Amino acid sequence: MSATTAPKTFHVKSFGCQMNVYDGERMAELLGAQGMTAVGKGEDADLVVLNTCHIRERATEKVYSDIGRLRRDDGSAPLIAVAGCVAQAEGEEIMARAPSVKVVVGPQSYHHLPEMVARAAAGGRATETDMPAEAKFAALPKRRKSGPSAFLTVQEGCDKFCTYCVVPYTRGAEISRPFNDLVEEAKLLVAGGAREITLLGQNVNAWGSEDDKGRMVGLDGLIRALAAEPDLERIRYTTSHPNDMTDGLIDAHGEIDKLMPFLHLPVQAGSDRVLKAMNRSHTVESYLALLDRIRVVRPDIALSGDFIVGFPGETNSEFEETLRVVDAVGYAQAFSFKYSPRPGTPAATMADHVSAAEMDERLQRLQAALQRNSLAFNQKTVGNKCTVLVERKGRQAGQWLGKSPWLQSVHFTGEYAVGDLVDVELVEAGPNSLSGRVL
Ligand code: SAM
Ligand code: SF4
Repeated sequence: MSATTAPKTFHVKSFGCQMNVYDGERMAELLGAQGMTAVGKGEDADLVVLNTCHIRERATEKVYSDIGRLRRDDGSAPLIAVAGCVAQAEGEEIMARAPSVKVVVGPQSYHHLPEMVARAAAGGRATETDMPAEAKFAALPKRRKSGPSAFLTVQEGCDKFCTYCVVPYTRGAEISRPFNDLVEEAKLLVAGGAREITLLGQNVNAWGSEDDKGRMVGLDGLIRALAAEPDLERIRYTTSHPNDMTDGLIDAHGEIDKLMPFLHLPVQAGSDRVLKAMNRSHTVESYLALLDRIRVVRPDIALSGDFIVGFPGETNSEFEETLRVVDAVGYAQAFSFKYSPRPGTPAATMADHVSAAEMDERLQRLQAALQRNSLAFNQKTVGNKCTVLVERKGRQAGQWLGKSPWLQSVHFTGEYAVGDLVDVELVEAGPNSLSGRVL
């Protein structure tokens, strides 16, 4: 494609969190609405959008290596747009470091992507990293088709300022999308094929808005409204902050059948001193007490978390406190990371950086403990009868993969279609998946 030809095909590649996956889908819908066709591989596309993640250094570096790889055998390259949090954080510097990038667009401005691409296709360059108050969502095309399990961003940004985290700087202040817009988008997703919706936000349980009757409601109010949609079978939400778990949301877990028994509630570390240095505003004790309250209303709840090892100044015995929390909670799943200093965050200038070797050792020990937790959780569910939402075909003939209510991957055999709800008995468990016998 020459610089003066408008791109006809595109490929969006999203890195990082589920909110980026959601943004990537919305960008694809936006470009599709301009008459462009999605293709499966970057090399085959006229336009490639790299929807980036800035959360850890390695995530950022991956973007630059991807840009380098997009050159074709004949020396030509697609038009490259960098979107997402690296775009927000690094702005025009990206074009200086990678001149083949012609468009840089932040997470709050991607509704302008088509006109920015048009400018770049005409031989120019386009950068937009403002965080305008104007509603991006209102400018996006309406949702049409959906897989069986859909994402719906309800809340963006973060006001918590954990000292290690770039999100408050790249995604901006907390905003909640209006109730009516969300109910409408959910209805469209269900009409387009979704049986399950996961409500997304950097701090999803901080969501709040007026409902259709003008009353202020929190996330539990939105979940109650969505649960009334007849063809929506399952509701999930992620990621929550311990300090925003309201009584209403806890009660919802005991009262709303469609709200799945799964909660991703990161603790990050098991030492109160480290939590304070992280500015987490909860203690280990308050976190464990919160989980106890949730287990009273929903004893079978599957818990998930995020952990950081090697935060500046973390001693070995403080790290071992994290291992004790892991075993006290019995996580069903978890994500664990080595601390990565992010430019501009307070922790990046803290003294006492933990050595790379110590971080590696701590991560290995933590992951072994988390793996034991997952296996124990899965084994405990063997014998349970449950409904699995079919997501895709498995590797073997006749095999299907789906998700249990506790977000476990379950495989089973039979003749099904994506989106079916299948009743199974869980018969065998590994740390990452289970097998089911169809009932
Ligand atoms: N808002 C969510 C919360 O507070 O739990 C998660 C946001 S963040 C996208 C996902 C996870 O990345 C965090 O929970 C944390 O464990 C990890 N993370 C964030 N900044 C990090 C850093 N500088 N180094 C390593 N891990 C980090
Ligand atoms: Fe980052 Fe903390 Fe906000 Fe989560 S709560 S997005 S970790 S600043």
